Amino acid sequence: MTIPFLDLKKPHQDLRDELTAAFQTVLDSGWFIMGQQLVEFEKEYAAYCGSKHCIGVGNGLDALHLILRAYDIGEGDEVIVPSNTYIATWLAASFVGATPVPVEPNPNSYNLDPNKIEAAITPRTKAIMAVHLYGQTADMAPINAIAKKHGLKVIEDAAQSQGARYQGKRAGALGDAAGHSFYPGKNLGALGDAGAVTTDDDELAHKLRVLRNYGSQIKYKNEVKGYNSRLDELQAALLRVKLPQLDRWNEQRRALAAIYLEELKDVAQIRLPQTDADNEHVWHVFAILHPQRDALQKHLQDAGVGTVIHYPIPPHLQDAYTELNLGVGSFPISESIHQQIISLPLDPYLSIDEVRQVAAAVRSFQA
Ligand SMILES: *Cc1c(COP(=O)(O)O)cnc(C)c1O
Repeated sequence: MTIPFLDLKKPHQDLRDELTAAFQTVLDSGWFIMGQQLVEFEKEYAAYCGSKHCIGVGNGLDALHLILRAYDIGEGDEVIVPSNTYIATWLAASFVGATPVPVEPNPNSYNLDPNKIEAAITPRTKAIMAVHLYGQTADMAPINAIAKKHGLKVIEDAAQSQGARYQGKRAGALGDAAGHSFYPGKNLGALGDAGAVTTDDDELAHKLRVLRNYGSQIKYKNEVKGYNSRLDELQAALLRVKLPQLDRWNEQRRALAAIYLEELKDVAQIRLPQTDADNEHVWHVFAILHPQRDALQKHLQDAGVGTVIHYPIPPHLQDAYTELNLGVGSFPISESIHQQIISLPLDPYLSIDEVRQVAAAVRSFQA
């Protein structure tokens, strides 16, 4: 058996004709940056998320970084981030000169524990970055309530949760602004780098449109020192082909996750992922905990099953963040997750049979 962790050929073979047609449309238009494809994708993605504005940018990290920049968050400010996220969330805060202040997750959902946020708030705190990790949203109602009480912005990192719902609303419409990534491996992926911001905030949307394009609205007239971070026409056209498939793909992810949950329940030592009440999970990854994680990964590899560790080292223990002096033991919940977590293959093009084979391989490690 060979079941790779993720095969990005299959979804694109399935849509080959439509993707090729989209490519030809852009090719024949002779217009490659800031054109009609972007305008249409922004409309379609904003409507999908249920937010007023969508602003396409170069990638997910830029989306988060530019939101902070547009809110004038910078030097001397603090931004609350999860201690167990992908490092991009922290880097966005660092890029504007702010300090990322980690808060531990709820060990059941892997998302920010709202009960631990207030202890981390200081007079310098300006925003909470709520990451929707692995495909389910953070517990946004209490997070928004805390932010309101302390006058903070709530920024969603929706990179892993396209299409997820919380209390009926989509990720991307649950805070003040949201950063999305269309990195190829995400639930909605481009065929290269791409990202977007969604928001209902008119002023923020305007600032972002200017910031992403050299600080300019009118060509060669620069209002502010901006960036070059644009979602190009080709990626926008390809994303427009894939967006209408997203709900179907997420439905398939849920069906496959349900099989793992059934096949792996009551297996000794394994902790299965849990879905919070009020959440519709989109299973960006299916991550389980196992105390002998490395041996399990080796066992699965020998059985032909690809796995990935999301993530092996928490941001506070990365060399990139030694300046914060947060040593081993400073975020024990996160550190224990990082030591035990392993993601099993789960994508909409895996068959039920393949998922059953992976589950059997996991169970055979116990025997
Ligand atoms: C992928 C990801 C990002 C960054 O997105 P890029 O498009 O790769 O820049 C940010 N946050 C999280 C949680 C991610 O998974």
